[in-house]
Amino acid sequence: MTGRTHDLAAFTALSFVIVTHPLPQITLATGLVALVSNLIGGIAPDIDQPTAPFWRNLPIGGVVGRVFTPLIGGHRFISHSLIGVVVFGVGWHFLLQILKPSFPNLNMTIIWWAFMIGFVSHLLMDTITREGVPWLLPIPVKIGIPPTKAFRVQTGGIVEKFIIFPGLIALAGYIFYTNYSKVLDLLHHYLK
Ligand SMILES: [Zn+2]
Repeated sequence: MTGRTHDLAAFTALSFVIVTHPLPQITLATGLVALVSNLIGGIAPDIDQPTAPFWRNLPIGGVVGRVFTPLIGGHRFISHSLIGVVVFGVGWHFLLQILKPSFPNLNMTIIWWAFMIGFVSHLLMDTITREGVPWLLPIPVKIGIPPTKAFRVQTGGIVEKFIIFPGLIALAGYIFYTNYSKVLDLLHHYLK
């Protein structure tokens, strides 16, 4: 999947979690940082692909990606697995704990969860692509849904562009539409 599809999927997943859980009271700053954290989580697994949007979006990303990628294994490797979820989850947690004293107004737990929701949404989306996802590394099996490769989505292909991407927009729209009052509530009462 392309970077923008992953970002949209991350946002859609976050929206779903927000409307299906009790709303915590958070600061506006926490809300905004959580949103950015969610989008970063949504593309973070592609850190192991030199041509990935994650690297292309950085000014010197192409170079860094080519140097860094072989070190962690190349195409869809450790960051596209359950081990990756744990490693990134723990790493992001420690980073946020280091930043916490400097940003007392931020709820780091919310920001951490937003990242993880984005991260896992990425792996789920990649699971329906031709390449599949090595969820169970170090067991070197790439898992895809549906099991028949030919029925899966090609990254950047017509199905992604004209069905998956618009489908995610429609889904996010549906989530907001059917939870309109809750979303308004969030904007009015919970963001301080
Ligand atoms: Zn990926």
